[in-house]
Amino acid sequence: MLDARVTVGTHEAEVARLREAYAAWPPGVPVRLAKSTSNLFRFRGAAAAGAAAGLDVSAFGHVLCVDPATRTARVGGMTTYEDLCDATLPHQLMPLVVPQLKTITLGGAVTGLGIESTSLRSGLPHESVTELEILTGDGRVIRATDDNEHAELFRGFPNSYGTLGYTLSLTIELEPVRPFVHLRHFPFGSAEACMEAISQIAAEGSYHGHKADFLDGTAFALDELYLTVGAFSDVAPWRSDYTGQQIYYQSVRRDKEDFLTIRNYLWRWDTDWFWCSRPFGVQKPMVRRLWPRRYRRSDVYRKLVALDRRYRLTSRVNDKRNLPQREAVIQDVEIPVERGAEFLRFFAANVGMSPVWMCPLRLRGDRAWPLYPLQPGEVYVNFGFWGTVPLPEGQADGYHNRLVEDEVGRLGGHKSLYSTSFYAEDEFYQRYNGEAYRALKRGYDGEGRLLGLYEKCVSGR
Ligand SMILES: Cc1cc2nc3c(=O)[nH]c(=O)nc-3n(C[C@H](O)[C@H](O)[C@H](O)COP(=O)(O)OP(=O)(O)OC[C@H]3O[C@@H](n4cnc5c(N)ncnc54)[C@H](O)[C@@H]3O)c2cc1C
Repeated sequence: MLDARVTVGTHEAEVARLREAYAAWPPGVPVRLAKSTSNLFRFRGAAAAGAAAGLDVSAFGHVLCVDPATRTARVGGMTTYEDLCDATLPHQLMPLVVPQLKTITLGGAVTGLGIESTSLRSGLPHESVTELEILTGDGRVIRATDDNEHAELFRGFPNSYGTLGYTLSLTIELEPVRPFVHLRHFPFGSAEACMEAISQIAAEGSYHGHKADFLDGTAFALDELYLTVGAFSDVAPWRSDYTGQQIYYQSVRRDKEDFLTIRNYLWRWDTDWFWCSRPFGVQKPMVRRLWPRRYRRSDVYRKLVALDRRYRLTSRVNDKRNLPQREAVIQDVEIPVERGAEFLRFFAANVGMSPVWMCPLRLRGDRAWPLYPLQPGEVYVNFGFWGTVPLPEGQADGYHNRLVEDEVGRLGGHKSLYSTSFYAEDEFYQRYNGEAYRALKRGYDGEGRLLGLYEKCVSGR
């Protein structure tokens, strides 16, 4: 939130303090951020998690200023989108892309890529950043923009996952909002028809006369898919609220039309972590009534999963009951829209998890970003799937994830790196532009104080 105590002056003092702390960091000890929340889905073991030292970046979790006149904001790198939107919405403004989970931070979404239902219109969060203040791996604090001497770092920062440096503040563009979002949920009986509708919306900006300020979708089965088209609105004949007993993803199947306040729209997926609150029982009416509203949040569920992974609770129960071990298949992938139906068919046959989130996107600008080379002008669909599936007899962890990686490559797609990856190093750097990455690493972290991208994202260090 906009914190009056955090002036630009105190920010500068905190930058100087952090720079000193970084310089004094013992050589050889891996540097990590000490943050109270995370949305990564790579869990280190108990020993590693306990041993990891953390750089205190709590001073960078505030909005420094919102300027309604220029429709921009300057924001600390560790500020959550929840706090950021709390600061911009009173000015009837929002960031151009607001990832759906409240504790995703602006720095995390830029270095790790984010996406949401405005991404067909406005691209990815990093495309509305105009300046990055970065503590580089070699200990400098620099300001990178698209046209200064650090332009290559500016363009190479997205998908670098904190391996080139940490962003301490960002300047971003904002866009005006209306008080409500008018949703229409359109059903489709085949993946092909659904992908065709996405292409049509990308070309026309609306569907059946309904303006597509927002667009995402939910696939429950190959013959049951929905696109949700949202239009800004000044009026709302009724207002739904999915932070109480009603569950948003279930409404997509049931209702043709809906109205939400802009704030409730932005966080519609957070209350039930899309549908991933199901294993905790929170979707059962009885449990939901008893589960305090303030704990119906994605960061609470994620902490529960982290505990489970850390102490291998589910895995031990499966062993004891002689049940097959399960593999976590938690990924977001981007597939060109014309191959989207093919991907859904592959996924249903080989992984078989449902629902699947669908979020169309197109780069806002006309240049590719080197470390995540989506093609300018091309419409992609982000498919998000988050759950576990039983491993076939004789197969080890990574079996399904590897199938997904191969299929994404075959279809000309890309895979986000916030979760597990299994690529060999050569293949990884072919896909994620090793040449550009290595040049940036030499230029901004020559001594390798921060981990490399492959070590961090694939080897899980
Ligand atoms: C189930 C699930 C669903 C998801 N769905 C979506 C979605 O719908 N939309 C979406 O946009 N994203 C989604 N994500 C991905 C999420 O946006 C990324 O994981 C993002 O990187 C998380 O940001 P964070 O702020 O929580 O960062 P963290 O989890 O704390 O860190 C992520 C990485 O970024 C680095 N990092 C963090 N802050 C900075 C900084 N200031 N400067 C440099 N490096 C930094 C960290 O070192 C780390 O490597 C999803 C993730 C999960 C697990």
